[in-house]
Amino acid sequence: MREANGNATVHVNSDNYVMCLEFEVLRSGESGGRRGLLTLPHGVVETPVFMPVGTAATVKAVPQETLETMGSDGGGARIILANTYHLYLRPGHELIRRMGGVHKFMSWDRPMLTDSGGFQVFSLSKLRKITPDGVEFRSHLDGSKHFFSPEHSMAVQIALGADVMMAFDECVETPATWERTRESLALTHAWAERSAAYWREHREQVPWFAERGGKTQSLFGIVQGGMYADLRRESAERLVEMDLPGYAIGGLAVGEPREVTREMIARTLEYLPRNKPRYVMGVGYPDEIEEYARMGVDMMDCVLPTRAGRHGLVFARVDGAIQRLNIKKLEYAGDRGPIDASCPCAVCARYSRGYLRHLFSSGEPLAATLLSVHNLNFYLNTMERVRTTI
Ligand SMILES: [Zn+2]
Repeated sequence: MREANGNATVHVNSDNYVMCLEFEVLRSGESGGRRGLLTLPHGVVETPVFMPVGTAATVKAVPQETLETMGSDGGGARIILANTYHLYLRPGHELIRRMGGVHKFMSWDRPMLTDSGGFQVFSLSKLRKITPDGVEFRSHLDGSKHFFSPEHSMAVQIALGADVMMAFDECVETPATWERTRESLALTHAWAERSAAYWREHREQVPWFAERGGKTQSLFGIVQGGMYADLRRESAERLVEMDLPGYAIGGLAVGEPREVTREMIARTLEYLPRNKPRYVMGVGYPDEIEEYARMGVDMMDCVLPTRAGRHGLVFARVDGAIQRLNIKKLEYAGDRGPIDASCPCAVCARYSRGYLRHLFSSGEPLAATLLSVHNLNFYLNTMERVRTTI
């Protein structure tokens, strides 16, 4: 199923040898950072990459055509996320399957990734009941009862049809003891095995299988282990044995100090294969994504640029340092300057801080769009700069 070419490239094929994922490391930096190309059924992604989060098949307040053309090179976001839990509840994965999969549903013809739904089941839903088989939970929308198992998460993700899907895992609460975290790992690893078995058996059911010449989705495993380096190592080694197309580091940025996040990433990267994509889930501030990319992380996602934008917070480079400005502040009323004079984005080229403050203070929906667009540009340009300097 897999053929490795030296230690720099990995190819993942479907059983009939159609290439479904290719990852090539083009260049490695001194601190472990690497520049690469990730080829997926819907296109090529330059790494390290930041992936905007499109929770409900929309990057909140930002139209697809804007996503496609942002960034300093005008090439836009190359890959975005969608959340399995949200799409499963509304509008439902079967509806999306009938619409041809999430790409067609939202008119996005570039690579996509879906999470397993696990994180939202554990963080958003009420009255969870965890058994070795899966998780019973109530919808945060209407209180209705649902059950997610590894198999069900895979079935939903196959119906959605993102290029990359994630194994279903247990997200342990923080802080958790070593014993509790170890116990949770056993479940996460058993569920990863079941996720992989279901994916291998059913991957030809992806809505675009025939249309994309027999290509299928790729499944990434998720390393857990809380804030314990020995458990992170154990989890990484166990998942690497499963020979999955890529690996994520999960359960971070959940309130721990930043040094701990960095330490856990560094200690986990040591045990992940160098020839496969490595993804840290749910991070972070612009300086963090830059730091982790330079350590050798290839993919990252975070709701921060869009969530901050909707709350009137914008990132800017002031005297070389990254700052978060609050556009609501009175001092920006009547300010004719852009959010960030060094930002090449369409918002900074056209609109003043004074106007943006007015839009935000008046509750105008355009404020959320413009501030999110600037912040996403800021993130994409940060990664572009990292790529050119590795
Ligand atoms: Zn800008």
